[in-house]
Amino acid sequence: MGKVADLHVHTNVSDGTFSPEKVVGLAKLEGLDAIAITDHDTCAAIAPAIMAAKDMDIEIIPGVELTAELEDDEIHILGYFIDWQESSFIKKLEELCRVREERAKEILRKLNEQGIDLKYEDLLEIAGSRTGSVGRLHIANLLYKKGKVACIREAFTKYIGNDSPAYVKKFKLSPREAADMIKAVGGVSVLAHPKTINTETKPLKDIVKILAGEGIQGIEVYHSDHNNRELSEFKKLAGEYGLLITGGSDCHGLGKREVLLGKVKVPYELVEKLRDAAMAR
Ligand code: AMP
Ligand code: FE
Ligand code: FE
Ligand code: ZN
Repeated sequence: MGKVADLHVHTNVSDGTFSPEKVVGLAKLEGLDAIAITDHDTCAAIAPAIMAAKDMDIEIIPGVELTAELEDDEIHILGYFIDWQESSFIKKLEELCRVREERAKEILRKLNEQGIDLKYEDLLEIAGSRTGSVGRLHIANLLYKKGKVACIREAFTKYIGNDSPAYVKKFKLSPREAADMIKAVGGVSVLAHPKTINTETKPLKDIVKILAGEGIQGIEVYHSDHNNRELSEFKKLAGEYGLLITGGSDCHGLGKREVLLGKVKVPYELVEKLRDAAMAR
């Protein structure tokens, strides 16, 4: 078999539950030749992951997952082959993480209004000491731990999902701002899990066209949540708009219960194309 990669992996510096070291060990066991670490709004896992990978013959691709907003709808944008040590980039990420803390408190306030009493300290405990990027998956897990929901999915559908009563927006990076932020550190920006995009007011095709015009260079075709029909639809869109194709599991450790690492394996050829695009910047 040729070399394979998983290009979408979270660690416990954001809302995954596995440490960067553990992720690298598991990736090796899964037979992966490369993984991209793509935590939400932080690159704190990249140095420890590179350290852990040193004697393991596995490549760590530095990445990040940013949240953007297009006409009131949330979209996620992945950045690959970024210069993760660039100081103004790190400062921006730190600011985004500070906003996350305020937003998490706001979500807890809203839940409180609905009679669900959760403490911020409890949330921090769930998130763990390595997290600098607190988010909704932590809140979902806290709701579960406190017996307020029967599963993680229910936490989102009932309380904190994009259209649910305790949802609070994070901040308003436009797709172009997100793409520019990634471009400024030499990275390639990719639309994450297009399946999650709200297509009530606009078909996905139109949204992808807009995003391509805003500087997004790729689309995540392969993802744990995509079925075969979606996969061909997204592949077709990539062709139509000249976008790079990527794919990954979007593993959050045990954060979503099932460990997804390595469940999506893309051929190394896609990694090389991403790298070439980054080199061309
Ligand atoms: P945040 O960045 O804080 O808005 O949280 C985003 C996290 O919540 C990501 O890890 C998503 O995968 C997760 N998430 C969003 N919607 C859902 C959902 N309906 N079910 C499970 N996880 C979700
Ligand atoms: Fe996440
Ligand atoms: Fe995402
Ligand atoms: Zn993700």
